[in-house]
Amino acid sequence: MDAIVEQLLHLSARTETLIAVYDGDDRLQYANSAFRSAYFIEPDESPLWPDLMRRNFELRRGTVIRASDFEEWLRSTQSRRGKIGYRAFETDLCDGRWLWMTEAVEKNGGMLCIASDITGLRTHGRTVRQDRDQAIKASYTDELTGVANRRFVMARVDDMLAAAKHGNAGCLAVFDIDNFKRINDRLGHHAGDIVLRDFAHRIHQNVRRNDCFGRVGGEEFLLVMPSTAPEDAIDMVERMLTVIRFSRPLPDSPDFSYTCSAGIAACAPSDSASDLYRRADQALYAAKLSGRDRVRAA
Ligand code: GH3
Ligand code: MG
Ligand code: MG
Repeated sequence: MDAIVEQLLHLSARTETLIAVYDGDDRLQYANSAFRSAYFIEPDESPLWPDLMRRNFELRRGTVIRASDFEEWLRSTQSRRGKIGYRAFETDLCDGRWLWMTEAVEKNGGMLCIASDITGLRTHGRTVRQDRDQAIKASYTDELTGVANRRFVMARVDDMLAAAKHGNAGCLAVFDIDNFKRINDRLGHHAGDIVLRDFAHRIHQNVRRNDCFGRVGGEEFLLVMPSTAPEDAIDMVERMLTVIRFSRPLPDSPDFSYTCSAGIAACAPSDSASDLYRRADQALYAAKLSGRDRVRAA
């Protein structure tokens, strides 16, 4: 086995195919020389993926990013990155090359990325394909907050339930901002929108790459946590509520703060998405009844 691994590493150093492995925190664990040269990574460096993308964006190299606001691009891309077992897409580099990138994700979080140069292939229709990819991305993104929308996050609930049938249980959390109507009524709808964005962005920063967080409507959000035990899900959500408690999102009202409640339910083998959602929602209701700003598990 060791000999095969050694040979694999040896050959991967010579191929022009780009190869990289990231861990569940999205830190680069391995990249061959073709990958390092395309994305300007030093031989001994193991950056976090968002840091790598940010650095290359600032220096106008690596991936072409068609967005004026990098952080917004990052949020919507991260909201979908590493959440599905396998995906493949076309991507272009600032040096003019086009790549066919594939991503395979394991449930422990490891991600294998392999990309081939397709610059000379299928050039016809590339703009149409790019427009299509852009439209697909938009159809999975919540417009106000930039995180995943209901359609995308509910599909991840289905994925989690399918995996749960093979023993990989997981948890679903429902978040609902407390007394949000009062925030709108007292401070205006615009302030309400700022709070919604603040909430989405802060939670997003604390979401693991294999988990999926999205807005399902109004001031209600879901967090899908595959292969996660209820105790760990509760800990994680409690930490998130603490982050929200300390947020001061309105510069014109520096003392303004807000809170949120959450309900958690663990997958049962016979669950449908609506069974699981209903139990998480009941737990949320219990959290609201017992005073808000807290987590309850079903
Ligand atoms: P609770 O603590 O029980 O959750 O109370 P609440 O006031 O948050 O609950 P309720 O569901 O009554 O209020 C939700 C409000 O969210 C009502 C609606 O006007 C507002 N809302 C829904 N979508 C948006 C939005 O996109 N922007 C803003 N600013 N407000 C929204
Ligand atoms: Mg609500
Ligand atoms: Mg509410």
